[in-house]
Amino acid sequence: METHFSKEQLKNKDNKSSEKIFRKCVHCGFCNATCPTYQLLGDELDGPRGRIYLIKDMLENNKPANEKIVKHIDRCLSCYSCMTTCPSGVNYMHLIDHGRKHIEKTFKRPLSDRLIRNFLSKTLSKSINFRIVAILTTFLKPFSFFFPKKLRNMINLMPIKFPKKTLSQMKVYEADKKKKPVARVALLTGCVQKVLAPQINEASIRLLNRHNIEVVVLKEIDCCGSLNHHLGKMDLANETFKKNISIWYDEYLNNGLDAIISNTSGCGTTLKDYGFIFRTDDDFKKKAKKISELTKDISEYLDGNVKLNFIKNKENNKSYKIAYHSACSMQHGQKIHNVPINLIKKTGNEVFNIPDGHLCCGSAGTYNLLQTDIAKKLLKNKISNIEKIKPQFITTGNIGCITQIANGTKIPILHTVEIIDWYTGGPKPKILKKL
Ligand code: SF4
Ligand code: SF4
Repeated sequence: METHFSKEQLKNKDNKSSEKIFRKCVHCGFCNATCPTYQLLGDELDGPRGRIYLIKDMLENNKPANEKIVKHIDRCLSCYSCMTTCPSGVNYMHLIDHGRKHIEKTFKRPLSDRLIRNFLSKTLSKSINFRIVAILTTFLKPFSFFFPKKLRNMINLMPIKFPKKTLSQMKVYEADKKKKPVARVALLTGCVQKVLAPQINEASIRLLNRHNIEVVVLKEIDCCGSLNHHLGKMDLANETFKKNISIWYDEYLNNGLDAIISNTSGCGTTLKDYGFIFRTDDDFKKKAKKISELTKDISEYLDGNVKLNFIKNKENNKSYKIAYHSACSMQHGQKIHNVPINLIKKTGNEVFNIPDGHLCCGSAGTYNLLQTDIAKKLLKNKISNIEKIKPQFITTGNIGCITQIANGTKIPILHTVEIIDWYTGGPKPKILKKL
């Protein structure tokens, strides 16, 4: 794609990077074929190629965003299915991030939108705020029909009960005290995840400890920053990024870390991008690069670094039919697909890919809260494809997808790490007790 940025414009680091990406695009439109919003809406501007043109036009011509551009950019899920399809290696993720940042700077959203986005930014990225809102929401559920559509949807998405924590909060979860640990890792426990599903972090810690790996949970680290990043609120996101980078880097230097483990693929994708985000920041680029290099999805870490000790017992001696939902941030963002499937296969169960598995379930961070109608259509399609497999349960590696899919089906869904924990000596996940 030809570009016409001036020398002055290219002095801006974001323009410089985006210009290189625009030049890679050859307008072929292959990406449209696998874009969920293009498939549903059939509008060129609701596909990646159209969005690339919109972003390029704003940046190259120093144009402020307008309502039309914002509508089409907001409809993008950031699922990155287009990146997997693109034969030219266009990094759409960095373009849409730049586009969102430009929108936030140049466009004033209607008051109701600003209120909702600010509310999401303040509640979802801080676990304490989220916990308070989550509890309040349970009381509002019976009256949800009084609320405007977006708020009603937020209330309905919240579960009725929140699982209790079974592990006490510690900084260091030691492995076998009699043995020297084989590795020391930090675990990102996540802002939303630790409220909605503490059992995922607990399964991760138990599993790693059982394999003689010490786990560090630094309580100052709450959110990875991706919620604000995807809302275009770059100042808030950068504040979180810098805090996380400094804390983990200090731990790495002072006490040693072999990896930073993410068990939420959406967060892992952002952590792996810290290096790019701070590429020109003299104070942070070295540290950010190190944090990105250390980051591993838990499935990736288990596969590459841990000799898993699978155990058969009376709780896990049946063979189950499991549908594997490949979260977009996992398969398109981090390019991890077969690794979790192969890990589950080692438990002796049957694992099936979901038809049209490259398409998003509609969760996509705050998307199911902000773009309710499209998210519901995507969920409906996902559930119908899952039901074709007739699985006994579903598994995935991202809390957002777990919440979204659980909202559309009665088939139990659990995190992949809960299965691996269970088959290596951990408890049977509560959600499967009846199976
Ligand atoms: S990120 Fe997903 S929704 Fe957005 S343009 Fe790419 S494929 Fe379409
Ligand atoms: S597939 Fe890649 S090169 Fe082709 S239009 Fe889409 S982004 Fe551009």
